[in-house]
Amino acid sequence: MKTRKLLMIPGPTPVVRSIQDQMGRETVAFGDPAFVKDFKELLEDLKVLFKSSGEVFVVAGTGTMGMEMAIANTTKKGDNILIVSHGFFGDRFIDLCKRKGLNADVLSSEWGEIVPVEKIKEKLSEKKYAAVTVTHVDTSTGVCAPIAEIGEMMKSFPETIYIVDGVCATAGEPEYVDDMGIDVLLTGSQKAFGVSPGLTMLWTSQKAMERRKSLGDIPEFYIDFEKWLPIMKDPSKYYATPAVNLVWALKESVRIMKEEGMENRYERHKKFARAMQSALETLGFRVLAKEGCRAVTLSNLVYPEGTDDAKFRGLLAEEGIMVAGGLAAYAGRMFRLGHMGNVDKHDLVSVIATIERALYRAGMPVEFGKGVGVLQKHLME
Ligand code: PMP
Repeated sequence: MKTRKLLMIPGPTPVVRSIQDQMGRETVAFGDPAFVKDFKELLEDLKVLFKSSGEVFVVAGTGTMGMEMAIANTTKKGDNILIVSHGFFGDRFIDLCKRKGLNADVLSSEWGEIVPVEKIKEKLSEKKYAAVTVTHVDTSTGVCAPIAEIGEMMKSFPETIYIVDGVCATAGEPEYVDDMGIDVLLTGSQKAFGVSPGLTMLWTSQKAMERRKSLGDIPEFYIDFEKWLPIMKDPSKYYATPAVNLVWALKESVRIMKEEGMENRYERHKKFARAMQSALETLGFRVLAKEGCRAVTLSNLVYPEGTDDAKFRGLLAEEGIMVAGGLAAYAGRMFRLGHMGNVDKHDLVSVIATIERALYRAGMPVEFGKGVGVLQKHLME
């Protein structure tokens, strides 16, 4: 008999049945009044849930497109931009910005650590920056940036647009667009929203929209805020075909969030992360991100000495859990495990139990039930 495979990579995450059902519906015209109503309601809900009084965009594309969209609409060739990078996805902004012809300065941390807010402030004081980018959770390191604190500091730089990449955070880590002073928050559908890949969502402040306006015509066509804004105000209009079934799927994901309550959802993520990280440490793995800047959406686990990455992940897959490998310098030395979105306690118990079986089959020392015991204890706190 084939073992079911649990998808525990840090995105795409498991897609629950009710969301799958939305993707399996018969597709309708994007001008269908029922769809237009659904789309409109979704956009309203997204503003309310993430506490944004600005604009919201839902466009077909991936997280990378969201990154590009944020940059394209707030900067022009020759501008200075500051990139705060805590890993691979922070670094992705460097190439992206250079291609746009921006002068990119980069503040990087060691993998597993964060750039101190004071350092960001110092750098911003050196010259005029059109924008700063911060990756809320860098999926390559499992590090969570203090976006609220950075937002507070950004109040001293009213001419700089504060861009937050929430691809691996939004709907799992607390994000309040207005209160945190975020000018552009971008994310994707496939992580803590628990929807299949294919949608980019962005929230923008009035300041960001004013910046867009000041740029006049921009070279980018598909990702222009000004082209999409009329559609977001009235989804019966056309600019480019919306991903009808994914929009429905996102609406169902949002319905689930409303039912759970955002604060409860954030608390659940925190509790699950603590439980998973403690259980995994008990099993001999080291969480790469330092205490105090650990994400709740995923864990990046450095192997005990002598672990064969390919063999371990192969055995895990045979036993029924898909995880991701480490990136860059951590390739072969670490695995990455998502625990965000609509995962539940059943999933977590399965994951830890499966890791115990895989360790056993890999010939590593393991006491069955030890990790599961720690997990259960934390889940019941
Ligand atoms: N930013 C972060 C933090 C990510 O984790 C990812 C994807 N892992 C991206 C951006 C890029 O998103 P996508 O793969 O959907 O283009």
